[in-house]
Amino acid sequence: MAGRVEGTAIGIDLGTTYSCVAAWFDKHNRVEIIPNQQGNKITPSCVAWDGMQILVGEAAKNQIIRNPKNTVFGPGEKPIIVFEHESEEKKFSPEEISSIILRNLKEAAEAFLGTTVTDAVITVPAYFSDKQRQATMDAGGLAGLNIMRLINEPTSAAIAYGLDRSADINCPDEKNVLVFDLGGGTFDVSLLNISKAGTITVKAVGGDTHLGGENFDQLMVNHCVEIFKKKENKDVSENTRAKMRLKIACEKAKRDLSSTVQTPIEIDCLYEGIDFTTKFSRAKFEEINAGFFNLCIKQVENCLRDGNMHKSQVDEVVIVGGSTRIPKVQQMLTEFFAGKPLCKSINADEAVSYGAAVLATNLSGYGNKKVQDFLLLDVTPLSLGVKAGIINNMSVVAEHDMCVVIPKNTPIPTIKEYAYQTRFDNQVNGIFDVYQGESKYTKENVFLDRLILDGIPATPKGEQKMILCFNIDANGILNVSAEVISTGNKRSTTITRSGDLSKEMVKRIRK
Ligand code: AMP
Repeated sequence: MAGRVEGTAIGIDLGTTYSCVAAWFDKHNRVEIIPNQQGNKITPSCVAWDGMQILVGEAAKNQIIRNPKNTVFGPGEKPIIVFEHESEEKKFSPEEISSIILRNLKEAAEAFLGTTVTDAVITVPAYFSDKQRQATMDAGGLAGLNIMRLINEPTSAAIAYGLDRSADINCPDEKNVLVFDLGGGTFDVSLLNISKAGTITVKAVGGDTHLGGENFDQLMVNHCVEIFKKKENKDVSENTRAKMRLKIACEKAKRDLSSTVQTPIEIDCLYEGIDFTTKFSRAKFEEINAGFFNLCIKQVENCLRDGNMHKSQVDEVVIVGGSTRIPKVQQMLTEFFAGKPLCKSINADEAVSYGAAVLATNLSGYGNKKVQDFLLLDVTPLSLGVKAGIINNMSVVAEHDMCVVIPKNTPIPTIKEYAYQTRFDNQVNGIFDVYQGESKYTKENVFLDRLILDGIPATPKGEQKMILCFNIDANGILNVSAEVISTGNKRSTTITRSGDLSKEMVKRIRK
């Protein structure tokens, strides 16, 4: 046991496949990863119900084959998750599932530190939308945590990396670092500038919240289903248990293929008593996943373009996330950066929570000088904009389509204002539909919320001025307000509540 630490704030990497928690240890003058109750430093982000109790982490993962329907992998987007046991059902929102994992990590930290823990910094994929961020905040609240800050995963990895490197006396005054983070369910790429004085400036972020190791596993499973069909003339694709067994075998085979060029897949009695055996080659693995790998490189190109940087200006390429162990991914990245060696020195599994713990310590005023001195300047990952309109004869008439108020990769926190004027004589209201995304067509972006500004004095067109204000806080969460200048009449909303858990629901679930 590590002795009593008062007021310790923890850093949590809430990953799609694994989660990890870390904290500052005064006695050792550094951040350390906290083991879970089984003594492991990473915990599967896995929750199950066995009819009697909720299982979390390894316990949940271990029973996945027996009980595939009652197991949820990863904090997903929005569906309701249904646990079935002997015709009994339990329903959970993704926020509740995430909160169960968070509570488990909180308890592991409390057991290890010997004190109650309430304050935490939680990491999210850089490409998480406003709604996904708010859902993570809700999950933290449900787990009894005070979320001091949400931080983007690659930025967190860069803190771990930057803090380590700034101690190096040979280190230049500043350098540009590209963090390539390919995990189980998400892909993040970030371009950062790290100064020797400890300032980390995020220049651009990009990626895909639905691209990761699980996509590669799925294509392997599909391939095996085809082989079985050809060999045995039987279709296993509708059998949940068989598919789960294939998924586990493929994931293991995929890992093996990172160090060997061919690996067997053998499953006894896969379907209707028939065994399944095949040999999977690295070449086949690379062939079926080529599209995904190309997508990763495309996102790196986009990120460099957004950050106004040529690839030759990148001083270091840091790789994190379990899926960067795939040789083809490493080879494509090295080739893209003209043979530059990749930096693998930070522990992929631990770097993200390490960085979050540094920030948590910094925010709570603890830690050594290096931890206290560091400064983080992050950006917003997706553009935020508005489609303005008016209510006319009970229907909404839009004036134009997506109008970007805050472009992606704007440093946060930030406040941006946009001025409007009435377009019609006697226009008494204005409607502002807020969207997030990169398309110029709002129908291709994510609708966040609607703000209605009424009570505009009836005057000739153009006479009334309105100010629309977008305010993004350090967590990347947006507040929008609109004001009629002549009357001071103001409406505002914290956008993220719409469509997600209401305050009442949070209260109910917490209870
Ligand atoms: P992370 O979310 O960073 O923990 O990454 C987890 C993902 O990395 C999972 O999809 C794993 O299957 C994958 N992974 C872990 N080790 C390897 C490996 N040696 N080769 C290929 N993929 C791996």
